[in-house]
Amino acid sequence: MEAELAPHMTVPHDDPSAPELSVVVPMYNEEDVLPLFADRLRPVLDGMGVTYEVVAVDDGSMDNTALLVQKLRREWPQLRLICLRANSGHQAAISAGLGLATGHWMVTIDADLQDPPEVIAEMLDTARAEGADVVYGVRTDRSTDTVFKRQTAGLFYRLIRRLSGLDAPLDAGDFRLMSRATVEAALSLPEHNRVLRLTIPSLGFPSAEVGYRREARAAGESKYPLAKMLRLTADSITGFSVAPLRFATWFSLLGFLFATVLLAYVLGSWMTGHTVSGWTSMMAVIVGFSAVQLLCLGILGEYVGRVFSGQQARPTFYVAYDSAADRAR
Ligand code: UDP
Ligand code: MG
Repeated sequence: MEAELAPHMTVPHDDPSAPELSVVVPMYNEEDVLPLFADRLRPVLDGMGVTYEVVAVDDGSMDNTALLVQKLRREWPQLRLICLRANSGHQAAISAGLGLATGHWMVTIDADLQDPPEVIAEMLDTARAEGADVVYGVRTDRSTDTVFKRQTAGLFYRLIRRLSGLDAPLDAGDFRLMSRATVEAALSLPEHNRVLRLTIPSLGFPSAEVGYRREARAAGESKYPLAKMLRLTADSITGFSVAPLRFATWFSLLGFLFATVLLAYVLGSWMTGHTVSGWTSMMAVIVGFSAVQLLCLGILGEYVGRVFSGQQARPTFYVAYDSAADRAR
């Protein structure tokens, strides 16, 4: 298949052959956990009494993830494999899966069993009962996460809510059920550094929440090192708020005030003949002001970088293979 310029929806909204539910699973080097995940997911979906497909998105894994999915597909016709050409990141993998999924409802879920598959049934019931377009999986218990992860996550959600003014649910990651209309609306936005957990609440569709206990990763290791977490935080802030730019302005104004007072003092000392020996104060001023300038430049750089990559509009992923296209041939 050729490169996708943007994620697109493959099936018209009212296609009668479309399944009721698509479960989109991003996978990056998940060969250890994949059999466990499939064993737990399948009975849940089979027992829900809805037509479904499972869209496994192999995000450029270097292990046997894709091969394992292909093996599982022999016994599980509802399982579909999409391979991205290179590791494109969690958000891009989810976007790719959602763009190619065909269901009336769509769920995104991690492959590592931290999000319990059983909750999917509860999400669909809640959506139907409450007439909601979006049902967020909200982590009511994160005791299996490290203290560091819990603290940084808590700070992340509060900071983003404060800066963006968005009514994004606290402690909701990317385990969520969405109607097709919601997904179409989200994917139609030409965002480059997508953070779906914020884009979705920003659309304002009626929503509900389902609480669940975040479990420990069933096997394998986290694919979210600190660097990726920081990137997601920067994307979340710059994508939904210009507060840091305002902060830079205020900070610079404060610096300007301080400089004015300092200058008055320096000139006063000079005029009264009290020259200061001043290496320490000189260094303090240079270092202090340089730091402020570099910080403001860095903040500006984050936004300029965002404008730059948005303007280039390069695809954030390439789909190399889709098993559904195989079937159609
Ligand atoms: N993932 C992905 N691409 C990446 C990193 C992660 O598709 O570049 C997938 C991963 O396989 C998993 C989900 O995203 O299904 C969440 O990743 P992980 O569980 O490692 O993150 P954590 O729970 O530690 O934050
Ligand atoms: Mg995980």
